Amino acid sequence: MNVIQGNGFIADIIRSSKRKTAAIKIQKGKVFVIVPACLPMAAIESLVAKKNRWIREKLAIQNEIIAIKPKEFVSGESFSFLGRNHPLKIESGLYPVIKLHQDELVVSVRDKTADNALAIKQLLIKWYKQQAESELRDKTEKFSRIIGVNPTSVTIKSFKSRWGSCSITAGIQYNWKIIIAPDPVVDYVVVHELVHLREKNHTQKFWEIVATILPDYEKRKEWLKVNGNHFEL
Ligand SMILES: [Zn+2]
Repeated sequence: MNVIQGNGFIADIIRSSKRKTAAIKIQKGKVFVIVPACLPMAAIESLVAKKNRWIREKLAIQNEIIAIKPKEFVSGESFSFLGRNHPLKIESGLYPVIKLHQDELVVSVRDKTADNALAIKQLLIKWYKQQAESELRDKTEKFSRIIGVNPTSVTIKSFKSRWGSCSITAGIQYNWKIIIAPDPVVDYVVVHELVHLREKNHTQKFWEIVATILPDYEKRKEWLKVNGNHFEL
């Protein structure tokens, strides 16, 4: 066997007769475990398990699709929407407007040479919330039919540390920031909340239902866990 399954990643095992100690290397989002030629598999497994957290943190940084550095709200800066990066383009205009034109997020401000960071940030948040509302409504409708549930309402919120929730009256609430994530991850959040209308808690049955709709849900869930805390504007 020349690969090993870690918790949330796969590592390539490279055996080398020149090595006396084991080392873990992360390059371009891939994990390599370089070990002495005859190190037993169990020892490699325990090493990977011990370093699991460190590996995941490194991977999270390398696989980052969204820059972690604070946004400056300047032309050319990238903003993710459903996992696709759109460069910001700042123009001068009479009214503050924001729109997605071809691949660019075009923002009009009074004077584009002034410091407009705060105004642009507010425009962007407003735009994201509007997009979230329509995208999440559409997805909720689509998956409700598939799952066979009937949510009473869909609301967009600014949660601090959750992606969605569902109330006892079957109302669904989503964090608008989720639409920064790739489309399949957004689908996972929608399916997750809707399945709660059939199964209240995270029981085995709950995950079984999720898996019938999204067989690869674990991958999506993992992506969110690793990348989700960088979704700041
Ligand atoms: Zn849940």
